[in-house]
Amino acid sequence: MEQKENVCSVAKKCGGCRYQGVSYQEQLRRKQRITEGLLKKFGKVEPIIGMEDPYYYRNKVHATYKHMRNGDIAVGRYEESSHRLVPIESCQIEDQKADEVIQTIRKLAKSFKIKIFNEDSGYGLLRHVLIRTGRKTGEMLVVLVVASPVFPSKNNFVKALRKEHPEITSIVLNINDKKTSMILGERNIVLYGKGYIQDELCGYTFRISPHSFYQVNPVQTERLYKKAIRLADLKRKEKVLDAYCGIGTIGMIASKQVKEVIGVELNRDAIKDAISNAKRNHIHNVTFYNEDAGQFMVEMAEKGEHADVVIMDPPRTGSDEAFLSSVVRLAPNKVVYVSCGPETLVRDLKYLTKHGYRMKECTPFDLFPFTKHVETVVLLSQLRQKPDDYIDVDIDVAELEGTSAETKATYEKIKKYVAEHNDGMKVSNLYIAQVKRKCGIELAENFNLPKSEDARQPRCPKEKEEAIVEALKAFQMI
Ligand code: SAH
Repeated sequence: MEQKENVCSVAKKCGGCRYQGVSYQEQLRRKQRITEGLLKKFGKVEPIIGMEDPYYYRNKVHATYKHMRNGDIAVGRYEESSHRLVPIESCQIEDQKADEVIQTIRKLAKSFKIKIFNEDSGYGLLRHVLIRTGRKTGEMLVVLVVASPVFPSKNNFVKALRKEHPEITSIVLNINDKKTSMILGERNIVLYGKGYIQDELCGYTFRISPHSFYQVNPVQTERLYKKAIRLADLKRKEKVLDAYCGIGTIGMIASKQVKEVIGVELNRDAIKDAISNAKRNHIHNVTFYNEDAGQFMVEMAEKGEHADVVIMDPPRTGSDEAFLSSVVRLAPNKVVYVSCGPETLVRDLKYLTKHGYRMKECTPFDLFPFTKHVETVVLLSQLRQKPDDYIDVDIDVAELEGTSAETKATYEKIKKYVAEHNDGMKVSNLYIAQVKRKCGIELAENFNLPKSEDARQPRCPKEKEEAIVEALKAFQMI
């Protein structure tokens, strides 16, 4: 029987978790349906990858404080799309230690007589607290967001906080003196520790500063990144563009499998982290650029530069036409699109599929259990590859078996389809390859088939050819 989830007592008011009270299996089913509804027009949507334990996954926690009429301090989150505070003591999806620190700061703010900032009057000091934890390293960064750099008895405050939570590895004062709904201001003053946390993903260490983006669910992020890199099917010779690269995670994790990585990212702090992360991990084949990704791509295209693979991971608003049109001009063989906004993904896929690309694989990942959000990774390949990408060599059937996971999957799907629709008929990779060539579909680069048909090779019988053609039609490959 499916487990009934415990319902959070403030679920309705908070609004962060759309799926409170819905079993996790049902959440996954709904997200699958939503993703399929949006994306199946581009091709098959694989089953969503869910979590084994969908609780307390968020490594980034944010809280806001408020003075109550009775002199107490309340702590919680803003109601969705408003600035009304919903008091919250603990949350099912947030790091539990971080939630405890947030409660301790409430207690200390009262005893240290720290004034809580009032958005209406603009009076007061403490605006928000932001906590980041490194799931693997156990490091914890506490950012006290304040309206002014003058924080009374700050040394004693830091001492008292660290005494109750020795797990804190750094404390930063962030100055936000603007009338804004943004949480962080521009300036950081380090009160204790390094001013950032380190965490590990896929065997690499990353520094993450307060302003840099870092995925909030590290368990699922590792799976997502591995999938994205596997889809790119790298062979140590590629030039890979990691667009919207943040602190450089995806590109660096892929770096061993490629010739060169170029990362581009708009946020200056994230790029500083990325450069430092490359050093930290002794990676020498990555270069980072602090630029708008669209602008950067336009410049690359104008200079006539090339990229073999573009990995793109834009924010929820998706990419833009400057970027997408330059992807088309640069003409990488593969585009791996990591998306946290399925609607904008649809918009961008419409553009790319209209301009010579086809969705080859699509897998949703549940990075945000209980919330409405869903992450998706999509592989796009060029419809037709350039003749230069093929090498004339003679090979035998045995060689054909050693193909990439991606190509194999496609071949496996064709085999399965043929068997299911033709009383278990078996067709070999070689026969599929022959029929694909005959139909004018170029083969993936690791299928180095001879251009002239070799008489020594077995030829696909008519009946099997027809069955394969049917399968290719069913998969909309012809
Ligand atoms: N790939 C990274 C970051 C993904 S989040 C990771 O997995 O951690 C999206 C990133 O795009 C953020 O770091 C954000 O700062 C950056 N970004 C937003 N708009 C951008 C733009 N126009 N050009 C380049 N980067 C941008």
